Amino acid sequence: MSNLERTPPLTGCGGLTDVAPHPVEQVHEGREVDFGAGAKVKRLLPNLARRLVGAWCFVDHYGPEDVQAGPGMHAPPHPHTGLQTVSWLLEGDVHHRDSIGSDQTVHAGHLGLMTAGRGIAHAEHSGTAVSRLHGIQLWVALPDRSRNAAAAWDYHDDLPRLTDSGLTATLIMGAFAGAESPGRVYSPLVGLDIALDAGTDALIPLEPEFEHAALLMVGAATVEHTALASGAMLYLGCGRRQLRMRSGGPARLILLGGAPFEEKIVMWWNFVGRSGEEIADFRRQWQSGTRFGSVRDAGTPLTAPPLPPGRLVPGGALRTPRHPRTS
Ligand code: MN
Repeated sequence: MSNLERTPPLTGCGGLTDVAPHPVEQVHEGREVDFGAGAKVKRLLPNLARRLVGAWCFVDHYGPEDVQAGPGMHAPPHPHTGLQTVSWLLEGDVHHRDSIGSDQTVHAGHLGLMTAGRGIAHAEHSGTAVSRLHGIQLWVALPDRSRNAAAAWDYHDDLPRLTDSGLTATLIMGAFAGAESPGRVYSPLVGLDIALDAGTDALIPLEPEFEHAALLMVGAATVEHTALASGAMLYLGCGRRQLRMRSGGPARLILLGGAPFEEKIVMWWNFVGRSGEEIADFRRQWQSGTRFGSVRDAGTPLTAPPLPPGRLVPGGALRTPRHPRTS
């Protein structure tokens, strides 16, 4: 999936200023983003109050919807830089094709992991073999030392599964409770799918150095002291050794966590870079058909939206009052 907004903001983030060093409970309801043709997703990250949770820099929640009746999810060829996309489905499937020749249907419960590195283009279309579509699209910002790596696509259909009474967890990315996902990561992080049976009261261990957030995908649950409705995300800060989750009925959550991302990054449209100038270069290269390659037989590539005016200053810094340039 992609950021299909026509007037995406230029977002500066990273650094430790916004990281809560101690446990907090901040609810983010997300906002609806129009994907065109009636398709809507709910964007949880970035939002006005929070841009990152560890290296996790983008969270879109889509569905559940009936794809035979509804629009489904269709993203024509579009580029990415400096990030990994994590495609995770609870229901349905999505057909992924990219500019390094990958052609893979991502099924529910399997990890579709695309490392954009210095640049890749891909297209994604929900299938209709399964009638319902429900999923999440996550991006992970790559640290500077890895962000120019060669593009890669990895598919993992056998992820670590952990069970406890009333709880089944699937490790999507990173490390958790002694298990490790086969998905390659470039900074310490965790992405965990947690299914709670009705009437569960569970404690799960956390890495206290990480900042964490929990997104409720299905049902209702109380995380620590906060009752979450379906679709809401709870930012939890750092410094927790465990997390309590209680469910009335069956519930499904995604836990995201990671070491606070200290590097300053700039996000715009489908790019993660380090300066407004670099982002403008990525945009130019996409528009001129260089850098990213092409996705065969996947339709007309997306046109990049215009860059917001007046936001680029000499040297490529981003002028934002919340993140003044310090060096
Ligand atoms: Mn995409």
